[in-house]
Amino acid sequence: MKIFPPSLVLLALAFPAPAAEQPNILFLFSDDHALRTIGCYEGSINKTPNLDRIAGEGAIFNSSFNVNSICCPSRAAIMTGKHSHANGITGNGSPWNGKQWVYPRELGKAGYQTSLIGKWHLKGNPTDEFQHWEILAGKGGQGSYYNPQFLSAAGPSRVEGYSTDIITDKAIDWLDGRDKTKPFLLCAQYKVPHIHRIPSPKHMGAYDDVEFPIPDTLFDDFKTRQPFVADTWMALKGMKGDVLNIAPSKEVLAVDPSKTPKFLQEMTAAQRDAWHTAYDPRNKKFRALKLEGEDAVRYTYQRFIKDYVRCIDGLDENVGRILAYLDKNGLSKNTIVIYSSDQGFLTGEHGWAEKRWMYEESFKSPLLVRWPGTIKPGSKIDALVQNIDLAPTLLTAAGLAVPDEVHGRALQPILGGTTPGNWRKDILYTYYDGGIPGARGAYNMPRHMGVRDGRYKLIHYFDHNAWEFYDLEKDPKELSNIYDPTQSEGEIARLKTRYTELKTQFGVTNPPALKPKPKKKRRQP
Ligand code: CA
Repeated sequence: MKIFPPSLVLLALAFPAPAAEQPNILFLFSDDHALRTIGCYEGSINKTPNLDRIAGEGAIFNSSFNVNSICCPSRAAIMTGKHSHANGITGNGSPWNGKQWVYPRELGKAGYQTSLIGKWHLKGNPTDEFQHWEILAGKGGQGSYYNPQFLSAAGPSRVEGYSTDIITDKAIDWLDGRDKTKPFLLCAQYKVPHIHRIPSPKHMGAYDDVEFPIPDTLFDDFKTRQPFVADTWMALKGMKGDVLNIAPSKEVLAVDPSKTPKFLQEMTAAQRDAWHTAYDPRNKKFRALKLEGEDAVRYTYQRFIKDYVRCIDGLDENVGRILAYLDKNGLSKNTIVIYSSDQGFLTGEHGWAEKRWMYEESFKSPLLVRWPGTIKPGSKIDALVQNIDLAPTLLTAAGLAVPDEVHGRALQPILGGTTPGNWRKDILYTYYDGGIPGARGAYNMPRHMGVRDGRYKLIHYFDHNAWEFYDLEKDPKELSNIYDPTQSEGEIARLKTRYTELKTQFGVTNPPALKPKPKKKRRQP
């Protein structure tokens, strides 16, 4: 046995082996990004060369899903690697318990420098989850697209400019100023393309001569679905005014400044001029059209999707800036680059412009990962993955053990291009941020849970004792609910069993029944 002199042992204890094998991690994240607006995804309607570069030099995940497709629950699930009931963030109003276990704090303890810049959105500011944080503040944590306010441990500050550009500037500044002897975890989390979508002045003028393809299901009649599904408040046709960038013209506002909408009030004179130059002619045309019925829906879709894609153009450009920084500074080879979004988005499918549902467009998230030496360039990964898998994946990458309490699974076994036989065959979904008639929740949404495997999907509307069932191979657009309550064998019964087993596995119980809303008291005459 080799005996080391005590001085060497002490030295080794004081300076643990430099973890040269610990890769840097760049986590690029957006808010509400639909897969069909990323160039490398099948059926894409636009170009995103920089996001595509991540996939081209790494992998595109075609079956990446959420555990709960809404903003705050998704962010909490990623940080904790757990389903919503276990991390406490079941809905957008849930208070964040920052003392609970989160993967960034563990990376920090293991020698990483950790930083979060951009949209945090949880109810409760960060404390020590990240060593450095600068988050968008105001508007319930949504922040502003223009001249946004940031909050950091040092206090609030307002920065002139456009949110996507500023978040990138801050991310690059942090990379520049970091301790270059340590590995880093940098989460750059963008606000785009969340509603109310205002593109940067650079991209506002695009697409006037373009008509984007309309989803086949825009005019879904909901014939086979549960009746309350059609009753939710997220129809694209209901969008109007500010959220479509329809507002009074520069001339009108010059005469009556009191009509200036809040989003224009937040802009500098130059930014407002850019907005009027881009949108006043469009709005003039719109007012002359006086559209009704399906024509009005088609028009609204075009206004909506064009602003959506313009916001993505700004995102893609800024992703390119960060990738170029990595190249220039010799960091591309030893940095894992991940691009994802807090959920997907229904961009007109079923007539909606929202998320929340277990339907594919919102249940899925984009996931692109570049990981030199681990992922072969150009990989396409179809295995079922969920956002709770990111925490265990990154811990494992850093050489750390994954605690048993974490629900997700490290993705390393599927990154080589083949899916081992023991990989998960199905995934559980839970959505709690809703209501029932008489106890309306957000968007008049029904609460629901369900299970999806490689082919089938079972949705349980537990407040209504109602079910839906889809064969995604025959009906990928989920137009035909084929739930049959009399079927006691076959796929429906099999998925019902798996639904019960998965709920037991993760400790999920149906939440308490919603209390009816109190009736408004009538005033005495
Ligand atoms: Ca979101």
